Amino acid sequence: MSVVVVGSLAFDTVTTPKGKATDVLGGSATYFSVAASYFAPVRLVGVVGEDFPEAHRRVLADRRVDLEGLETKPGRTFRWEGAYSADMNSRETVSVELNAFGQFEPTIPSGYRDTPYVFLANASPRTQAKVLGQMARPRFVVADTMDLWIETQREDLTALLRKVDLLVVNDHELRQFTREGNLFRGAREVLGLGPRAVAVKKGEHGSLLVSRDGVSMLPAYPVESLVDPTGAGDAFAGGLLGYLAERGQTQYSDLRRGLAYGTVVASFAVQGFSLDGFKGVDRALIEERLDRFAAMIAF
Ligand code: AMP
Repeated sequence: MSVVVVGSLAFDTVTTPKGKATDVLGGSATYFSVAASYFAPVRLVGVVGEDFPEAHRRVLADRRVDLEGLETKPGRTFRWEGAYSADMNSRETVSVELNAFGQFEPTIPSGYRDTPYVFLANASPRTQAKVLGQMARPRFVVADTMDLWIETQREDLTALLRKVDLLVVNDHELRQFTREGNLFRGAREVLGLGPRAVAVKKGEHGSLLVSRDGVSMLPAYPVESLVDPTGAGDAFAGGLLGYLAERGQTQYSDLRRGLAYGTVVASFAVQGFSLDGFKGVDRALIEERLDRFAAMIAF
């Protein structure tokens, strides 16, 4: 079954201890789409400027990412610049140029409206709600958010959560949103607002799944050749939701397995700048790494 994703496509400039990449293809919807496309057909809704090259569209289209929902607006594409700390556990946003993404009013193509799986990538909760309002009763909705929206649109975010099945957030964001230091208690609070489950990303420390049916956790896959963590969160969500869409089931046991797929797909994303970490990666390599991961955590 297909997945609709709504989010950013970007030119990223990223500095990590491994080097610097300038104006490379990035964006939350880009990373999510590539990750999810290993499992299911993806329908992308987003906006770019006139400077977005055909070659970038081809990268996505070649991976069964449908681009009917990709609008081109006059002017430039969204640009983001980030710099990572020496251990790559934290990053600073150096600059953001919203450009075409600033006035983004997503329109869901009529052929996308009955898509059962939806990922609301990082965008304002108001924009995310407008997207959901155009979908015909999706089966499973996953949402991401960030500190900016928690600070500036907390009420809209809270209202959105009533219509979300799984919230994917990082540990800082969960603490910021709930004002609760304990992640388990914070996640439980979010469950009280609507979602069936919360997936908490903890960077190199792995992830946590808290649902009404149980709690589980996974370490991160140990990557020795970490180059650039950008997009890890979106790739994690892509592996997770792509797997659920492929399976066509969203029970707690499916979410748990999805968490493992998300972890493994994210581990490829961080092995290079932009989408380089996915070069040469096919489904067989994902399965191989999943098996190795399973062996590492079994005892
Ligand atoms: P992640 O590392 O998973 O948080 O995702 C990083 C991606 O998010 C980068 O490729 C950026 O282009 C994109 N990004 C950064 N800031 C924003 C924002 N405010 N809205 C949407 N996308 C963003």
